Amino acid sequence: MRGLSALRVIAPVKSVVRSCVLIPVNKTGRVHIQCLSTKMPTLSPPPQSLMKPMDFPQKLLMGPGPSNCPPRVLNASALPLLGHLHPEFTQIMDEVKAGIQYAFQTKNQWTVCVSGTGHGAMEAACTNLLEPGETVLVCENGLWGQRFADMCTRNGAVVQKIIKPMGQVFTLQDVEAGLQQHKPVLVFVTHGESSGSTLQPLEGLGQLCHKYNSLLLVDSVAACGGVPLFVDDWEIDAIYTGAQKVLSAPPGASPVSFSERAKNKVLNRKTPIRSYYFDMTHLANYWGCDGSARRYHHTGPISSVYAIREGLARLAEEGLEKSWETHRKCAEMLWEGAEKLGLELLVQEKANRLPCVTGIKVPEGVNWKDVSDYAMKTYKVEISGGLGAQAGKIWRVGIMGYNATPENVQKVLRALDEGLKSVRGNPRSQL
Ligand code: PMP
Repeated sequence: MRGLSALRVIAPVKSVVRSCVLIPVNKTGRVHIQCLSTKMPTLSPPPQSLMKPMDFPQKLLMGPGPSNCPPRVLNASALPLLGHLHPEFTQIMDEVKAGIQYAFQTKNQWTVCVSGTGHGAMEAACTNLLEPGETVLVCENGLWGQRFADMCTRNGAVVQKIIKPMGQVFTLQDVEAGLQQHKPVLVFVTHGESSGSTLQPLEGLGQLCHKYNSLLLVDSVAACGGVPLFVDDWEIDAIYTGAQKVLSAPPGASPVSFSERAKNKVLNRKTPIRSYYFDMTHLANYWGCDGSARRYHHTGPISSVYAIREGLARLAEEGLEKSWETHRKCAEMLWEGAEKLGLELLVQEKANRLPCVTGIKVPEGVNWKDVSDYAMKTYKVEISGGLGAQAGKIWRVGIMGYNATPENVQKVLRALDEGLKSVRGNPRSQL
């Protein structure tokens, strides 16, 4: 009898286990299934590469990101998981939110982390703030404007651009002309253009956009924490950053903040937000920003939230002013050192240089990759190359967060100096 009832229990899977027999019920009442023939598909073997320990070199990441994480951040990310709605975890989320409000200098209620890297935060800003057919004005002076414009087109928005070459920034007059001509609902600028190494001045831009009934969106992935930023005072409506730059945490949770104006635009949309995952109304609820009980939207990236909490705590302990000063001093040391080596910087105007990422021109006849390979081989230091129009023409050196120290800058300069000498002394390495 017991055997029969066990048979009935497994009946729905009979077709799958056609080639199997039932072994009689044992004392515990359990049924065993044993396969007789090999009608199942052939199993691929487990990958051999996973049968040995992970190969893991230590590197000093002095490119445009990620930057190295301090031990306290790495240790935090190794802590045991909590449930993503447990009170102890939502308390940590509240601490992260307070840290983001500090880093952005905002009291915005809608301040959250998007589960994803900087691109996730970009997608969130785009998909929430724009409806199909609406016009967005993208100030493009490098890769990030291009990429944001691409996202807007995919979301059905009408993209208008003002374009400057990499290494140049926009003036208030440039933006005003674009506002007058295109009457956009949203203006996008990149605060720290990591591809062109520019620092976009933001003062006055928010007020200007509001004069023309437009919202201002700022990409501060490569700048926040490293340079002055006052989201409320500068009337920025939406802003995002990443974890893996000045915050020195692993990529995975990205801060986003919306002003009341931006929030009202989202709440008054005529069409649904196209992305469920990045819907700010859901995210605001999950991050405890809407006054109602937190509901399940998705499982937050728990370890990444622990890590960014520690990255933000580091910034809070150091203080924003101190952090801005450290980044500036280290960047100036790099700029002067590079010039002493006879190298030219991509951005001429000092005020427009981004301290967090510096573009250094590759001298005529030198292959950038040879020098960067030398730095990696000899010093385990990452020095990156250029992107887009600057590919092969510049090196990009990142000085961000935990890595912003005079010792690290000296190491980069030494690697550049020796790398250039070794390349110049070796005709085969020259272009
Ligand atoms: N914006 C800027 C200015 C960036 O520098 C980056 C990263 N290099 C991003 C957006 C995208 O961030 P992520 O690579 O973390 O998706």
